[in-house]
Order: sequence, then C-alpha cells, then structure tokens
Amino acid sequence: MTGKMKDSEFHKFFVDELKDIYWAEKHLVKALPKLQKAATSPDLAAAFEKHTGETQTHIETLERVFELLEEKAVAKKCDAMEGLLAEADSIIEDTEKGTMIRDAGLVLAAQKAEHYEIATYGTLRTFAENMGHTEIVELLQQTLENEKATDEALTQAAESFINEQAAAE
Ligand code: FE
Ligand code: FE
Repeated sequence: MTGKMKDSEFHKFFVDELKDIYWAEKHLVKALPKLQKAATSPDLAAAFEKHTGETQTHIETLERVFELLEEKAVAKKCDAMEGLLAEADSIIEDTEKGTMIRDAGLVLAAQKAEHYEIATYGTLRTFAENMGHTEIVELLQQTLENEKATDEALTQAAESFINEQAAAE
C-alpha cells in the first residue's frame, strides 16, 4: 500500500470502523455462550454454539484484514454492541428459564446483533470496494454472508417452533 493511501482520511475512517466491529465481535464471542446456556430449546442452543465458532472466524478474518492494511488489530469500544448485549442480558433477566418466551426473547436479542453486523459489514465491504482493496472485499463479503445465514437460521427457528410454543405458554 502506498503512503498516500494510508494517509487519506477515508482510509483512517475505514480502519477506525474496522476497530469498532473488531471490538463488537470480540464481545459477541463472549456473550454467545451465555445465550446458549440461557436457551430453553436444544435447537436454539445449538444455533448459538455454531455461531460462537463462526464469530471466532470473523475475529480472525478481521485480523487478516488489519494485516493486509498493515495496521495493528486494535479493538475500539463499540457503544452499539455494548448496548445490544446489555439488552440481551435484560431479556434473560426478564424471562423465565425453561420457557419458550425466553427463546423468543433470545432470538430477538440475537437478531438485533446480527442486523447490526450485517449493516456494518455491508458498508465496510463497499468502502473496501471503493478503495480498490479486492482481497479485503472478499473477506468482508464472506463474513457478511455468514451473518445473513445466521439471521435466516434464527428466523427459521422462530417461525418453525419457538413463537408458536411461546404463544401457547
Ligand atoms: Fe460476526
Ligand atoms: Fe454474527
């Protein structure tokens, strides 16, 4: 990468936003096992377990992106993810263990986090496109697709059994 490119304000902004999602992913990877433990249905617990592993991959992918940019992988506090995770905690507090209402709430909390990630990766991927970072576009696109698939799996779980059972409680 040329010195000129690294000095540009857009480059700095891009790196700053990567640090933000890096913080978000690192906190999500710690929160997901809590959601897994809190879940009532084994299917939802399994979905959270699966995404914990995938989130670890997202962290590693971002580390590769920092490396390609010749920037240090530093996490910068993401207020949005902190808030979303606090909300997940209060959903756990406000719902009873062993109920499907608990699971409906966990899906809601998790989908809010996934949508935040989808918005972020979509934009960062486009930034990378604008800057001509082809390899980084590919990497961010992969993560984006995985976040979308996770969101769809959660919708599928909610619509196939969670919401119906929650309504019957
Ligand atoms: Fe992620
Ligand atoms: Fe995710």
